[in-house]
Amino acid sequence: MTKGKIKVSSDNIFPIIKKFLYSDHEIFLRELISNAIDASKKLQTLETIGKFKGDVGDLTIKVEVDKAAKTITIKDRGVGMDEKEVEKYINDIALSGAEDFVSKYKDEADVANLIGHFGLGFYSSFMVADNVDIITKSYKKSAKAVKWSCDGSPNYTLVDDTRKERGTDVIIHVADDSTEFLEDSRIRELLNKYCKFLPVKIQFGTNEETVRDKDGNPVKDKDDKEKKITTPNIINNTSPAWKKQPSKLKDEDYKSFYRELYPMNFEEPLFQIHLNVDYPFNLTGILYFPKLKNKIEVQKDKIQLYANQVFVTDSVEGIVPDFLTLLHGVLDSPDIPLNISRSYLQNDARVKQIAGHITKKVADKLAQLFKKDRKDFESKWDDIKIFIDYGMISEDKFYDKALDFALLKNTEGKFFTFEEYLKKISKAQTDKDKKIVHLYASSIDEQHTYIQAAKNKGYDVLIMDSPLSSHLIGKLEQKMENVTFSRVDADSVDKLINKDEKQSSKLSEKQQEAIKPIIEGVIPKEKFSVTFESMSEKDAAISITQPEFSRRMKDMNELGGGGMMGMMGQMPDMYNLIVNSNHPFAGKLLKEKDKKKQKQLAKQATDLALLSQNMLKGEELTKFIERSMKLI
Ligand code: ADP
Ligand code: MG
Repeated sequence: MTKGKIKVSSDNIFPIIKKFLYSDHEIFLRELISNAIDASKKLQTLETIGKFKGDVGDLTIKVEVDKAAKTITIKDRGVGMDEKEVEKYINDIALSGAEDFVSKYKDEADVANLIGHFGLGFYSSFMVADNVDIITKSYKKSAKAVKWSCDGSPNYTLVDDTRKERGTDVIIHVADDSTEFLEDSRIRELLNKYCKFLPVKIQFGTNEETVRDKDGNPVKDKDDKEKKITTPNIINNTSPAWKKQPSKLKDEDYKSFYRELYPMNFEEPLFQIHLNVDYPFNLTGILYFPKLKNKIEVQKDKIQLYANQVFVTDSVEGIVPDFLTLLHGVLDSPDIPLNISRSYLQNDARVKQIAGHITKKVADKLAQLFKKDRKDFESKWDDIKIFIDYGMISEDKFYDKALDFALLKNTEGKFFTFEEYLKKISKAQTDKDKKIVHLYASSIDEQHTYIQAAKNKGYDVLIMDSPLSSHLIGKLEQKMENVTFSRVDADSVDKLINKDEKQSSKLSEKQQEAIKPIIEGVIPKEKFSVTFESMSEKDAAISITQPEFSRRMKDMNELGGGGMMGMMGQMPDMYNLIVNSNHPFAGKLLKEKDKKKQKQLAKQATDLALLSQNMLKGEELTKFIERSMKLI
């Protein structure tokens, strides 16, 4: 028997291991199973290259919980270790790895945000254990089995063991403060979280099934008891779809893998992108465009990140561009450095390269879908536009590519690329400054009057109703030369696209001066500014508009634009109230000599304008209805 002291520079790292990363104690299981997987894979490799000549046999890794003995055992049939290897890999290397990790991160402020915590490895078992034993026998012919034990101090013992089988058992004697891990349900939960797609079979317990004859009746044994068979309960799918060749998979395979990933999500994905790169970095995965149940419900953190099929995290922020975190699916890359904090991760050259690649692939796929079947692409547009809008706003590289497939939809439900749309409207909608004015509505119902007025003038109106529309419009105006956007209710229809066509006014300036205070007397002055415009007689007598700029600032502010907009706080709503100086109403108001009647006329007309904008509410609305009744 060998007794030894593990060489550690700090007096005792075990208390530190135990203390820190408190919430992440559960990762010990992932670490130990990862080691078992590594050992099994190594054996397969040795066989392939002819260095192992025996029978590989069944490599299933077994996880066993003994509640009475307070142990968790992880058993593998991998390469195993001989005495020298235990000394080297467990006492020296594994420990120095753990020590390194602890000394590096014990003072990290965002330790909880460190993903993966890879590198702690074998010694993470001491987060939940009083004692750990390793009983192991190397695959090498003459190797003797050994048992290593360590009680959580730097002291260990190493003795010969009678084990006959190749492979390793790691036995964790669970500490009193970690007995939650002796519950089957807890272990099953962890296996499901971390091991669902590991490449070697993992067994946790058995399933018992009743044997049935061909008619489906239970078969009885001699003692007239139902005959049962027990089958191993395998918890993982060893060859998940993302590891397969894309050419070998059908649409249905992708859909069923989606169901496997999200058993609680009953929506089918719209389409998927299969990533498969091995140079200059290794990256596989499948990203799904989900079908959104409603526009508001956009979930982040539905992408799972794996490293060689080992689950790492479902928070991929900082690893993929923000707009792609809205997608679902799996990314697997051993090349993403997992033992550095998020803030470092974002600046890592490798991570940037991977993010760039994913962005490009997503754009390529969208371009391909658009090209292949435009009708189908259009039918999916309402579901995918949030991703595309977000991508265009936040990633310049994506913006450039998206020009090939990003669509605008008009109020008649027709779709156009940006280029097509420019062609369509440039003739009728170019203003005096040579700017092509894109008109849009955010709601067909609420802005119906304005849309109609614009159409009557021969203009086309887009529908832009996503929460990101204001941001996207800002981006488009900045990127496209000589293009501006204006919401249909931003101004009177004549001024929406200012062509410098002067219409003569029936009212003189003096008459306008006389009308202004009458109107101002019946509306809250701080909210409306009253102006006059010479429109057609057929246009509304009074209309209410909200200037494009102030409305857009307000929209962006509400969405939480941050920065300057965030500092401006709640912005008041400002509107223009435009009096049509060519409408007979203006003349009538002026001619009315009875002051009381004049006021009533003004009130009725402004209320109607408010009503058409859905702005007449509460007491004002009640009074309006009463007044209107009397008039009838
Ligand atoms: P890492 O897995 O990153 O190398 P670990 O601390 O997890 O670090 O493990 C240290 C080493 O101990 C491994 O590299 C391996 O050589 C050895 N080892 C651990 N578990 C096993 C096992 N189940 N079978 C064979 N060797 C193992
Ligand atoms: Mg390991």
